Amino acid sequence: MLANDAPLPVLTPETTPFWTGGEDGALMIARCSACTRYVHPPQPICPHCLSREIAPVRVSGRGTVASFTVNHQRWLPDMRVPFVIALIELEEQPDIRITTNLVNQPIEAAAIGQRVRVLFERHEDIWLPLFEPDGETGE
Ligand SMILES: [Zn+2]
Repeated sequence: MLANDAPLPVLTPETTPFWTGGEDGALMIARCSACTRYVHPPQPICPHCLSREIAPVRVSGRGTVASFTVNHQRWLPDMRVPFVIALIELEEQPDIRITTNLVNQPIEAAAIGQRVRVLFERHEDIWLPLFEPDGETGE
């Protein structure tokens, strides 16, 4: 869980690009080069075609809110509540969904279908992908 002050994710060879791409401002999602589908969470074998030809690629970082919940529970002593936990569908492939926090807007502004974009928050050697409202209008 990417909540404030929650334990950081553990880096593995598969997940490191996802958790550290933010250093370059890049949201890195694993993609199968055999069937061209994105795979998330990252894993060594493609669940669609069983290929091992999976490599991280940079995606736009834009997507929409598929669902969300407002957390009021203080799981840890220093946790700041409330905050929004959201499932974001990436525009590249709607079945790729990232569990994250929605930030930079009032809690009550969160909405299903809202257009959002990624930003990163550094914690030690991890760059957490968070999402904020996408300022572009007229889409
Ligand atoms: Zn595949």
